[in-house]
Amino acid sequence: MAGSLDLYAEEKLAALEAQALRRRLRDTAREGVWIVRGGRRLLSFSCNDYLGLSAHPQLKAAAKAAIDRYGVGAGASRLVTGNHPLYGELEQRLAQLKKTDDACVFGSGYLANTGIVPSLVGTGDVIFADALCHSCLWAGAQLSQAQLHVFRHNDVTHLEELLACHRASHARALILTDGVFSMDGDLAPLPALVRLAARFDAWLMSDDAHGLGVLGAGAGSAAAMGVIPDLQMGTLSKALGSYGGYLCANRPVIELMRTRARTLIYSTGLPPAQIAAAIAALDIIRKEPERVAAPLAKARLFTGALGLAEAQSPIVPLVLGEETAALRASSILEEMGFAVVAIRPPTVPAGTARLRIAFSALHADTDVVRLAEIIRTRILNGAAPMTTADAARLSA
Ligand SMILES: *Cc1c(COP(=O)(O)O)cnc(C)c1O
Repeated sequence: MAGSLDLYAEEKLAALEAQALRRRLRDTAREGVWIVRGGRRLLSFSCNDYLGLSAHPQLKAAAKAAIDRYGVGAGASRLVTGNHPLYGELEQRLAQLKKTDDACVFGSGYLANTGIVPSLVGTGDVIFADALCHSCLWAGAQLSQAQLHVFRHNDVTHLEELLACHRASHARALILTDGVFSMDGDLAPLPALVRLAARFDAWLMSDDAHGLGVLGAGAGSAAAMGVIPDLQMGTLSKALGSYGGYLCANRPVIELMRTRARTLIYSTGLPPAQIAAAIAALDIIRKEPERVAAPLAKARLFTGALGLAEAQSPIVPLVLGEETAALRASSILEEMGFAVVAIRPPTVPAGTARLRIAFSALHADTDVVRLAEIIRTRILNGAAPMTTADAARLSA
């Protein structure tokens, strides 16, 4: 007999299934931009390995050398005995790239955000967050217990109204945004946000998980826009092909993280191999500007071929509306040999289920054009393609 816990889980899953919101893990072997699933080889447009570095020989060699020298695990939190020597080198390299005094590496991007935000603000303070911020920024905001105000996506005027209304009655204020929005591929208006933050004595934190390595000659979205937000967070797990998260900021802020961020203090340090691989990735990013420029160029080839607004990042959303429409489109593409995952609520707002197409330096231009053509004929069937901005206009 199933107990109440099992029954609860079964009922919850059945309800999600009925709404086409059940999620399933599928075994997937990856070789570059190709994946093998259920015995079939598919060309993937759903990886965040934008530069094809996750299986690059130089990263593999660096990781193997680190394993031989330091072993496979860190053994403890960085504050205990887990701070092996490669950390310092990586942090220095990240700080250089982001033009800050210092940097701090965390176990993952998720752990970075849930550690950074509560170390800076708490009860009596206030957070202003873009409506489309990544899930782990919301998690960090909730953990902090600061008052939370949400501004409409990329709406600087709305943020200004909220700051004018709520900033003065709180001790400290933090503005949260993605640099490149993970499900929409558009960029935050960072220069305007930097100005607003200065005017209202608020701190600006930008999550550049999808900007590092692909925008601003590899330095990310803020560098592409010529500004330096107070707090530049990101991940080693996407364009860098490795694993881990980081924060770049001025030295006192970084020292505060090392002393106060709970996800750094109470979680084991990264395995040495991941740090070594991230350092090797930064070398490649510095030495191969063509690789760095390729993902955005491929995204623009795609948006050009479909007559969509020009891509601002390697991520292009194709909004289809209902969950079932996105799932159907994904399975049509799978039949045609492409892996393009359907993204559904709660990852994106209700009614904006979509295909999220991510471009990599490893994609052949001919495959990019072929994907656009198949989407035009088999999925849109003559309908005009819709980006997130178009969908927002229609639902407003
Ligand atoms: C992927 C992602 C993260 C989380 O990074 P991980 O290193 O995968 O934990 C954080 N923010 C954004 C915007 C992301 O896309």
